[in-house]
Amino acid sequence: MKEKKKKTGIDKEELAFCKRRGHKVSLSGGGWAQCSYCRMWLREVRKIEERSDEPPVKEMSSMEQCRRSLAEAKRISDDTK
Ligand SMILES: [Zn+2]
Repeated sequence: MKEKKKKTGIDKEELAFCKRRGHKVSLSGGGWAQCSYCRMWLREVRKIEERSDEPPVKEMSSMEQCRRSLAEAKRISDDTK
């Protein structure tokens, strides 16, 4: 007899459900935090990605966007001198 595979543990879909339910879990600090509504434990996993080409401006960090707009403003004012 073959056993049916049972889903064990927390899968990613369930975590998404928690978010979709509108549960606000404070995930600051990087440790596991328990949702007070559904008792689900959540943790934010930060992922670092790398790319050598320039990403779209809207995908840049706000700091980078600010730096770029300042550089652009400076370039324009230099051009009009
Ligand atoms: Zn929840």
